[in-house]
Amino acid sequence: MRHYIGVDLGGTNIKAGVVDETGRILAEDSRKTKIPRPESEVCADIVETILCALSQAKLTLGDIEGVGVGCPGRMDSTRGVVVYSNNLIWREYPLCDMLRESLHRPVYLGNDANVAALGEVWAGSALGASSAVIVTLGTGVGAGIVIDSRILTGYNEAASEFGHTVIVHGGAPCTCGRRGCFESYASATGLVRMTREAMEQHPESLLWKLTDLAGVDGRIAFIAGRKGDKTAAEVVDRYIDYLACGLANIINAIQPEVISLGGGVAKEGDPLLIPLRERTYREVYSGLGEKYTRIELCTLGYKAGIIGAAMLALGNPR
Ligand SMILES: [Zn+2]
Repeated sequence: MRHYIGVDLGGTNIKAGVVDETGRILAEDSRKTKIPRPESEVCADIVETILCALSQAKLTLGDIEGVGVGCPGRMDSTRGVVVYSNNLIWREYPLCDMLRESLHRPVYLGNDANVAALGEVWAGSALGASSAVIVTLGTGVGAGIVIDSRILTGYNEAASEFGHTVIVHGGAPCTCGRRGCFESYASATGLVRMTREAMEQHPESLLWKLTDLAGVDGRIAFIAGRKGDKTAAEVVDRYIDYLACGLANIINAIQPEVISLGGGVAKEGDPLLIPLRERTYREVYSGLGEKYTRIELCTLGYKAGIIGAAMLALGNPR
C-alpha cells in the first residue's frame, strides 16, 4: 500500500493527514496557522504537523511517496509557488521548494477549493464521476471542476470561479467589484443579507422573535420557515431560486455528471436539496434527457481538503 501526505493550509488552521492510495486517512494532526507571521515559521509548522501525523500512523517520511498541499488563493502549480493568497497574506512564495528542503519528498500544490473537489471525486460524494463540479456555499461561493480525475485549472490557474458569474445584471454589489454575482445571492453572506432585508420589511415576522438583525445567520430563515413563518419561507424560496439559476448555468456550461454542494448552507439537507433539484432541472437547456447531472451533498467535510491534497501527490489520479 502506498502512502501520501495531504495538507490543508488555511488562514486559520494547518491540517495534515496521512492518506493511503484508496483515499483513507490513517492519521491526522493540526495546529493554528497564526497569521500574520513570517512564511518560514508557517512552513516549519507545516513540517511539524506532517511529522506528528506520520508518527501517529507509525510511519516515517521514507514511507511517503509525496506530499500535496491545498492553499487558498492563486497558485502556480507548475512552479509550486503561491502567487497570491489573501488569507495567508502571501505573494510569490515558493512553498513547494521550501517544504522539499525539509521533507526531501516530492511536493505538489493546488488551490484549496480545487483540491477539495478532487477529494470528493476520489473518496466522497462524486466518487468515480467522470466529471464533477463541487460548489461550496460559505462566506463566498467557491467551486472546483474535476474532469477525468483532473482539476480544470484554466490558462491562468484561476478557472471555476462560478461565484463571480453574474445572475442578476446590475444586482447586489460583490466583493470582486462586479454586481449581481452568483456569490452575492447564493453564499451564506447573501442569504444573511436577504434575511435581514426581509426582517426590515416585515416587523410581524417570527424571525424577530428568534434573533435581532446582528444575530442573523445562514440557518435562521430555514428554521423560521419550518415553523411556518411566511416571510422566512419566502426568503428561503428566493434563495433556492437564485441557487438553482447558478447551478443551471454550471450544468449548461459543463454538463458534469455530478454537482456536489458543500459549506454551511448545504447542511440544511433535503429541505434545500429537493426543491433545488426540481428548479435546477427545470432551467437546464437540454431538459432531463436520458442522463442528467446528479445534485448531491458533499460527504467528506474538511477531510476533502486533506484527501484531495494527497491525491495531488498521487500524481497519476484515477
Ligand atoms: Zn463577484
